[in-house]
Amino acid sequence: MEKAYEDPARRLPIRGSQAAVPRQGSPRGRPACQGQDSPASCLSMARSLFRFYEELNDFLPPERRKTAFSCDCALHATVKNAIESLGVPHTEVELILVNGVSVGFSHPVRDGDRISVYPKFEALDVSPLLRIRERPLRELRFLADAHLGALAKFLRLLGFDTLYRNDFRDQEVARLSVQERRIVLTRDRGLLMHRIITHGCYVRAERPLDQLSEVIARLDLSRAIRPFTRCLRCNRAIERIDKSCIAGRLAPDTLRYYDEFWTCHACDRVYWAGSHFRRLAKIIEAAAASGQSAGHQGARLSMGTGSSGSAGSKRSTRE
Ligand SMILES: [Zn+2]
Repeated sequence: MEKAYEDPARRLPIRGSQAAVPRQGSPRGRPACQGQDSPASCLSMARSLFRFYEELNDFLPPERRKTAFSCDCALHATVKNAIESLGVPHTEVELILVNGVSVGFSHPVRDGDRISVYPKFEALDVSPLLRIRERPLRELRFLADAHLGALAKFLRLLGFDTLYRNDFRDQEVARLSVQERRIVLTRDRGLLMHRIITHGCYVRAERPLDQLSEVIARLDLSRAIRPFTRCLRCNRAIERIDKSCIAGRLAPDTLRYYDEFWTCHACDRVYWAGSHFRRLAKIIEAAAASGQSAGHQGARLSMGTGSSGSAGSKRSTRE
């Protein structure tokens, strides 16, 4: 189902104007990363786009703060070396996303990578209310509190594992977030102050689509988007199913005009590229574009909206 989507990484422009002052080398004397003005454009180097968040910017020269900047790194250097060579101690780093995916310190830097680096937050009453502690989450998973049902559905639409129930109590949210290592999404500061919650994100926006853009931007999720891969109702991953297996459940027009179908084995819902497709595709594109413009700049999500049936926009047989 993802074949209809171009990988935006291939089209990510390197913003030369944002390249900052060349670094003189890593703290250990190894030039893991250099500004692009340095004579580093040989085959042994990889050019990546970095963005540091919140107080990590204090370690950077002014021109690199709170903006994305390109940098040449030693090919196959670890992301830890790359970050430290830019002046940021690894002990201050809590979460690293490479192309939208959480990675460990030993992850090798590759050409064209987009690397987002987040700090620890020692107190909750700092802004933004983003708490990522102890150890990074290897898989991005969310838990939306009871007031964020629409946001939860939008996140599922984009393929993010998002647990949600409208009767969640605070204690249950806290317990599940720890047990299942999920990032709590909430507009309730008090909930994030719960002692055992270690990963949380305070959502400022009030409208669901704005909330979606906000979360995408703050956690740099645009490259982790896998649209139409998850059940909107129950959050399970959906799978292809042969038309003959569900033909008896389809309306005559659906049977006539569509050949590709997906199903959720948990709730038995069936999806196909029906009339919701263009509307949902626009939601995805707008959220991704908005999220990227608020975080990194440059890349856009390109969607193959024209191929009916090749990408999985969904509509239930049992609305
Ligand atoms: Zn389901």
